[in-house]
Amino acid sequence: EAKKKGKNQFLRYTKQLEQRRARNLLIERLLHTALEQKEIALYYQPIVDTSLKKTVGLEALVRWHHPDIGFISPSEFIPIAEENGLIVPIGEYVLRTACEHLSELQHSGFTDLYMSVNLSLKQLQHEHFLSFVQQLLHDIHVHPHNIELEITETIALSDDEHVIRTIQALKQLGFRIAIDDFGSGYSSIGYLKQFTIDTLKIDKSFIFDVINHDATARLTAAVITLGHSLGLQIVAEGVESTEHLSFLNKHRCDRVQGYLFSPPVPFGQLFPLLQQRVNV
Ligand code: C2E
Ligand code: MG
Ligand code: MG
Ligand code: MG
Repeated sequence: EAKKKGKNQFLRYTKQLEQRRARNLLIERLLHTALEQKEIALYYQPIVDTSLKKTVGLEALVRWHHPDIGFISPSEFIPIAEENGLIVPIGEYVLRTACEHLSELQHSGFTDLYMSVNLSLKQLQHEHFLSFVQQLLHDIHVHPHNIELEITETIALSDDEHVIRTIQALKQLGFRIAIDDFGSGYSSIGYLKQFTIDTLKIDKSFIFDVINHDATARLTAAVITLGHSLGLQIVAEGVESTEHLSFLNKHRCDRVQGYLFSPPVPFGQLFPLLQQRVNV
């Protein structure tokens, strides 16, 4: 009986594995034509300043809608795009579109607004990334000070000379650098002294727990203090409730981002969000 149960479990597991593999192969195949078929778009999520009580920034988040299989989450397709190299053209599309939209918003009067864009390690490793960025700044009139590039801790910890030099060059061009998902990966914080980082984005897994887990609350408060002592701006991700918000206000978190204020929305829906005063 036990043997039979074991065998059933094994079969179920194998089947799941096969389904995962088939899905990944399908995504990989469909991804090749996603850009040219115009299936890829950007949504934008407001980043709210707790002192100014308004949206000061936007995070560009890529969205892929396939006509047959529907929305595919970036958490699912970005790793695949990183593996097969398609992250390079997708990432270029993302950065260019985000800059174009920022320029449009600035022309409409939102002159202080900044745009935050996620970068992949593969993009930073690509030999033409810097020249692509320089061309972009030539084509589109946006100031790099208004553009924040989000890198993960894994990227910040990279010992790839080319990647380190590229990040330094981006800093020199005037871009701001944010550490995304801070605290979710490595426990090493030594890299914080390595680059000139501007912003720490505290991972949403911390924010979710600040209300009901005392150690997480203390750790989050300590991260805010640490960041401030290094002169960094602190952004909290995944702010979903007023309890989260009051904790973050109490600990002087600079900016907040999450469903409490707005989910990521298409460009066309941004205007009212940018005009309103936010209750924070
Ligand atoms: P991320 O950069 O940490 O982005 C924040 C994610 O949290 C987004 O998921 C956003 O929709 C979600 N989020 C925002 N507020 C809340 C909230 O209050 N509660 C919860 N539960 N979630 C919230 P999304 O858009 O699915 O993106 C997932 C990840 O995919 C991103 O995490 C980022 O690592 C990656 N990604 C998205 N767009 C791009 C891109 O253009 N380039 C690259 N390289 N990666 C991207
Ligand atoms: Mg991000
Ligand atoms: Mg991320
Ligand atoms: Mg994040």
